[in-house]
Amino acid sequence: MASKTLEGIKSIENFQIEDKRLFLRLDLNVPLDESGRITDDTRILAAMPTIRYAIDKGAKIILASHFGRPKGKPGDREKYSLEPVAAYLNDALKKEIILVEEPAANATKQLLSGLKPSQIIMLENLRFDPGEEKNDREFAQKLAAFTDIYINDAFGASHRAHASIVALPELVEKHGLGFLMRKEIEMLDRVRLNPEAPFVAVLGGAKVSDKIEVIEVLMDKVDTLIIGGAMAYTFLAAQNISTGKSLVEKDKVRFAGELLERAKARKKKLLLPVDHKITRDIKDTASLTITENAAIPEGWMGVDIGPKTIALYAQELARAKTVFWNGPMGVFETPEFAEGTFAVAQLITESSAITVVGGGDSAAAAHASGLADKFSHISTGGGASLEFLQGEALPGIGALKPIKRSDKEMLIESTGEVIEEPKRQ
Ligand code: ADP
Ligand code: MG
Repeated sequence: MASKTLEGIKSIENFQIEDKRLFLRLDLNVPLDESGRITDDTRILAAMPTIRYAIDKGAKIILASHFGRPKGKPGDREKYSLEPVAAYLNDALKKEIILVEEPAANATKQLLSGLKPSQIIMLENLRFDPGEEKNDREFAQKLAAFTDIYINDAFGASHRAHASIVALPELVEKHGLGFLMRKEIEMLDRVRLNPEAPFVAVLGGAKVSDKIEVIEVLMDKVDTLIIGGAMAYTFLAAQNISTGKSLVEKDKVRFAGELLERAKARKKKLLLPVDHKITRDIKDTASLTITENAAIPEGWMGVDIGPKTIALYAQELARAKTVFWNGPMGVFETPEFAEGTFAVAQLITESSAITVVGGGDSAAAAHASGLADKFSHISTGGGASLEFLQGEALPGIGALKPIKRSDKEMLIESTGEVIEEPKRQ
């Protein structure tokens, strides 16, 4: 399906990459445990199709990513090194990955001149250079100096105007997107531009305040809004239902009340939990009980949705044709409180709908449910997927549009063919 967002944007397949220095901006920002082992390789796996394609086509490959949030403190260069990712790729691809300490140094260019087709170098964490987060043109120029073709496949970083995301493609004329970016944009566009009805959005997670914009945008598009997780308690509080000591955002109760009114006025279904799993304390799993109804007694806190709620949500999800899910239904990191989240994951994947998951913790929950391969798409971008869904133009996508020229100006491509470049929107 052609996506409007992608109009005028080239992809890796449009370029002749053999023997060319190909800069692959990836999102290899994976979590590590204390001993430096990768605990979740989802993002690396998601980047693999583009990496393998580049190898197959015989490009000279430069892999680049950010990694965590180094602040230039002592020890940061070890703590935020891409070394574990380089080692992982070494094993997975059975290819030597040369990790370059100083991406912006001249040495990189020299190293590349000796590189053979299908060989790979990896630049150290781009954020080690303060120019990266400042979208600094000079830093980007140093990267552009050894780049023939630039490909962005880092959806999870494309909501940030950083040098390797924005300034660099603006300097490299041959630029486009990779396979992961294409899939992310196409799938999220299916949800945000013309979702097939009934469109059910399932929202949960910790805070209403994190999700205000998403809720507002989705409210207009959905047929049904299902709310769970801690977010639900603020909505219950708006209806004067007791919430005990559950997480409630007092300053958002009014907003929640207004949303309930708005949903009613627009004849949208907005479903809230009708029972809960509650405990005395978030650590006290032994005290877990189920409420009779939506009210939570004094001294207790909600940690998950209850069985009646699951049955209620099941009815809506069974007939959905489009589902967007963001936010777990409970504190799913604790196995005793994960039932509601995993039940919803199962209901979503059992439906005949296009099913898209957005949000970092939601993606983790989808994977933990064991049903990851049953969703149509699990976005690798936490913040990026939500911003994109809200209709914000992501800087990283905008930077992939053709370089702006005056209306009449023609661009003569290397083929000698004269084509008119569309203006960047
Ligand atoms: P995402 O990263 O997918 O956008 P959020 O960050 O909004 O999701 O929310 C995820 C967090 O919400 C999880 O860490 C989960 O433990 C928490 N959460 C869900 N339900 C509850 C609850 N009832 N009480 C406290 N925290 C909750
Ligand atoms: Mg989160």
